[in-house]
Amino acid sequence: MTQGVLEQASAEKAGSTATKYVYFFGGGKADGDGKMKDVLGGKGAGLAEMTNAGLPVPPGFTIQTESCREYMRGALSPAVDGQMYAALDKLEKLQGQKLGAGDNPLLVSVRSGAKFSMPGMMDTILNLGLNDQAVEALAKRSNNPRFAYDSYRRLIQMYGDVVLDVPKKSFEHIFDGVKKKMKVKFDYELQPAALKEIIAEYKKLVKKETGKDFPQDPKEQLVGARDAVFRSWMNERAKTYRRINRIDDWLGTAVNVQAMVFGNLGETSGTGVGFTRNPATGEKMFFGEYLMNAQGEDVVSGVRTPLPISELERVMPDCYQQLKGITSRMEKHYRDMQDFEFTIQDGKLYMLQTRNGKRTGLAAVRVAIDMVKEGLISQEEAIHRVEPNQLYDFLVPRLVEKGEKIEVLATGLPASPGAAVGQIVFTAEDAVKHHGNGSYPVIILVRGETTPEDIAGMEVAAGILTSRGGMTSHAAVVTRGMGKCCVAGAGDCTVDEAKKELRVKGKTFKQGDWISLDGTTGRVINGKLKTLDAQPDDPDLVKFMAWVDPVRRLKIRANADIPRDAKLARQFGAEGIGLCRTEHMFFAEDRIEHMRTMILSDSEKERRAALKKLLPMQRADFAGLFKSMESLPVTIRLLDPPLHEFLPKREDLLVEIARLEESKPRSPKLKELRPLLARVEELHEQNPMLGLRGCRLGIAFPEITEMQVRAIIEAAVAAKVKGGDPHVEIMIPLIGSIEEMRNQAVIVRRVADEVFKEKGSKVDYMVGTMIELPRAALTADQIAEEAEFFSFGTNDLTQTTFGISRDDINHFLPAYMKAGIFKQDPFATLDQAGVGQLVQMAVGKGRKTRPSIKLGICGEHGGDPESVKFCHKIGLTYVSCSPFRLLTARLAAAQAALEEKMAGPAHTNA
Ligand code: PEP
Ligand code: MG
Repeated sequence: MTQGVLEQASAEKAGSTATKYVYFFGGGKADGDGKMKDVLGGKGAGLAEMTNAGLPVPPGFTIQTESCREYMRGALSPAVDGQMYAALDKLEKLQGQKLGAGDNPLLVSVRSGAKFSMPGMMDTILNLGLNDQAVEALAKRSNNPRFAYDSYRRLIQMYGDVVLDVPKKSFEHIFDGVKKKMKVKFDYELQPAALKEIIAEYKKLVKKETGKDFPQDPKEQLVGARDAVFRSWMNERAKTYRRINRIDDWLGTAVNVQAMVFGNLGETSGTGVGFTRNPATGEKMFFGEYLMNAQGEDVVSGVRTPLPISELERVMPDCYQQLKGITSRMEKHYRDMQDFEFTIQDGKLYMLQTRNGKRTGLAAVRVAIDMVKEGLISQEEAIHRVEPNQLYDFLVPRLVEKGEKIEVLATGLPASPGAAVGQIVFTAEDAVKHHGNGSYPVIILVRGETTPEDIAGMEVAAGILTSRGGMTSHAAVVTRGMGKCCVAGAGDCTVDEAKKELRVKGKTFKQGDWISLDGTTGRVINGKLKTLDAQPDDPDLVKFMAWVDPVRRLKIRANADIPRDAKLARQFGAEGIGLCRTEHMFFAEDRIEHMRTMILSDSEKERRAALKKLLPMQRADFAGLFKSMESLPVTIRLLDPPLHEFLPKREDLLVEIARLEESKPRSPKLKELRPLLARVEELHEQNPMLGLRGCRLGIAFPEITEMQVRAIIEAAVAAKVKGGDPHVEIMIPLIGSIEEMRNQAVIVRRVADEVFKEKGSKVDYMVGTMIELPRAALTADQIAEEAEFFSFGTNDLTQTTFGISRDDINHFLPAYMKAGIFKQDPFATLDQAGVGQLVQMAVGKGRKTRPSIKLGICGEHGGDPESVKFCHKIGLTYVSCSPFRLLTARLAAAQAALEEKMAGPAHTNA
């Protein structure tokens, strides 16, 4: 439970007045307001705010989140029922109607609404209050029996599924059966008699499955629906969504009970959703979709493909103008792009919801810039309007089309930008399976439409294709949030989920076939196109980053091993290289052979001979890095991984030897392979991550350190002689003691001096270390006597602090997440309480010994927004991350600086 919620809950308990569980809204004013998201949830707070602002909102009441928490604890207060019935009474009086009774029965919707939006993850019940009598009254009053019976059958179906656990499929079976019997294609073609038959069958089904009749008492329906919404907070898809979005399981959902308005009363009724700006591009345009004669779920579920909102201007100009006016007023009120839902009942407009809209990274930046221009927000606010991870959208791949023969199979809606080229699967389970076993490197999930049940499959897919649904369909909204490419509503595609086939343009595609998706244009393309990395030269992005960069205090560097990555890093704004893993240079084809000779050598002499061959190659690599980075700092780490990583696998060698012994026992190859196998076995370690690696290599084989340092210093001197200004930082890996550090630092300095003498020229350089073992953090004050800088290797530090192998965590991470032991993967987001404490301690100790010490981080956490903010807080000099996360890190660092400024001058440099 979050602090705010705890405080509020305990304050309520401690207060003299009883807890207020139910908040009314209607008649122009509300008990709550827009700030009360903790209590009323996002939707409830929005309804209160909209009511207070005088918008045409159907009245109702919100049962607050504390009730859900009580329900989860199995201790729902009896006061909830009492307050709920009092609110219902007030609602009935205001409407002049009675719930499910009389000639003009009141019907309500019962919807979830948590503090953070969780689209489609929890349950909703519509048309609640209908029963055998009320349906007749509604039929008479609306003069539309088809509508009344359809509403009732929808209620029984929804209530049966959500509250009574009757399988949805059984309802669908009945429904499809009657449709077939009546020979109708569309649901709305069913006539009252047929709908009555469906109702009767539905009721029989409920009785059969539950042993009880469908409840006729509207109050019993209300209690059942309310509790089902509470339960839906804990359903698997909601839990998965919260895990992905890091939402606290203990927040709970509020329940909103609201008078129903109907968009399916006939041709002057309708319902729709929209945005005040384009959520994909950010363009300032009134953007949305609607359907006439439909209920809300029809638009968002993607079952019918909706019409663009511009059409509404032609059909119902008054409603259109009123809607446009209200939504632009709300945008000014909230000072952010709005996502809204509306219903028109018999030509009268009702607003059901307006909230800050989800958007792509491209749209987030554009909207932020435009709103500054429009004077709605300040530049500092604009910096907070973009989620750091969203900047990744600017770096999403695009398809390479030049010179390619492209076969466009279909064009759907460009629901979420970017491109994906992958192998198709037809179910979320298959996506998860093929991702998990690695059989398909890139997956595209193809569905008729997606539902919240598909969330786990969508998470592992690179792109989503649907044949139905609009720009606001589930697939579109969710992928946009995930920053994934999506083509929605590609109507020319037939998706046969049973046969696992995609049929389009006379062709049939089966599971595992390759297609290419372009989420920016909506095209579905046959085969496997190449993709091109996006260029970060978008003018909006450039402008936005120009606001961001002056604000941050943290420097941002990149982890880059080769000159190509270094160039990319500079393009994305790197201010240096924070980690060059030199071992990556040895894996190249022309080097691995020398590396292996070096490892297999029996004597120092042989080893030196092999290292001599590697020296010019390493020197050339470093020269390339210094050239790309000009006068920016370059941190080069000496050899780190266990040596067996450079040798063939033991099992492969055993198989190869056995094969040759059988087929060609005299093959000279055997003479090569046998000693290789012997050395591989000699080097075999039970726990290679804790074995001969890191500085232990340079201590056991000083000639390796000597060669690497010589290559670095020679390259730096050469760069300087050519007029360059290289800034070299030599980094010793996996240090655990001052003695280890000293041993290696002595070699580094000796070799550097030798090179300076030989070349008659000097360069400035520093010698520092990674802090990636708990002992290094604990003795950082001693290590800082030798080390001129620290770079926190939080991958290894997490591994060694938790005692969890970074390569094997996936074996139990799902269980840990499910059990709530981990809220997030500690290798992705820094564990501030444990690992972070070690980092903070080492910062303090290091600075005490050497006040000017340079402090950075180069573990994966250097590109994770939350971890970057922590690094700012504890006063690091820089963070270093992979080139593609540089924009994210730059923005997170700026946000951290602004948050600190807002919080006041309490900052300490640890
Ligand atoms: C680390 O351990 O955090 C680190 C950056 O080094 P590597 O991932 O190469 O072990
Ligand atoms: Mg490491």
